[in-house]
Amino acid sequence: MRIVLVGPPGAGKGTQASFLAENLSIPHISTGDLFRANISQGTPLGQKAQEYMRAGQLVPDEVTIGMAKSRMEEPDAAGGFLLDGFPRNIAQAVALDSFLDETGQKLDAVLDLEVPEDEVVKRIAGRRICRSDSSHVFHVEYSPPKKDGVCDVCGGELYQRDDDREETVRKRLAVYHSETEPIIDHYKVQGLVTTISALGEVGDVTARAMAALRRD
Ligand code: AMP
Repeated sequence: MRIVLVGPPGAGKGTQASFLAENLSIPHISTGDLFRANISQGTPLGQKAQEYMRAGQLVPDEVTIGMAKSRMEEPDAAGGFLLDGFPRNIAQAVALDSFLDETGQKLDAVLDLEVPEDEVVKRIAGRRICRSDSSHVFHVEYSPPKKDGVCDVCGGELYQRDDDREETVRKRLAVYHSETEPIIDHYKVQGLVTTISALGEVGDVTARAMAALRRD
């Protein structure tokens, strides 16, 4: 399956993407994770991305689209993938459409995670991520680690992402509304969008998402 996951920051896209990708045996491709990996390796791409990410802005398309395409061209993505955080504007959606056309592939579904705005800010401000593996995500209130600041899964150090500070979150939300939301209509025209509520227990949201995908 080829799936795009859309939703505001704090909808739990990363968490859901990990579970869904595992259930469906397809790679989870997160452009945010790819940027963060480049930043920690100190690559030129990472240096370029960092200033935009810190400001809560989108990294320019010419950087992002090339990086996403190269990842989708890797052998493990030949049978399908789950895109998390890409595309994030109309230009990226159009570039993805062309890439898929040119390579004889098709999207199966666009899963739109819905969550109220006040919940988004609460979720993000309390989010803590493992430095050793960004799929290990905790929340100081909703899913606290057993030991403060330490990942339950691997013992890695938990940290708050630079761009998870409240001021940046508000900026990211504004960017989501103006730049990313329009892609939902772009995909509605193609009959691909299913909207599900991202409220409730993580496992319930995954079950809702799997049920929505099975219907497609
Ligand atoms: P995420 O981990 O998906 O929340 O992404 C974190 C940050 O990475 C975003 O706020 C953007 O600055 C940048 N980013 C991730 N994906 C994209 C994308 N598709 N286009 C532009 N910027 C992106």
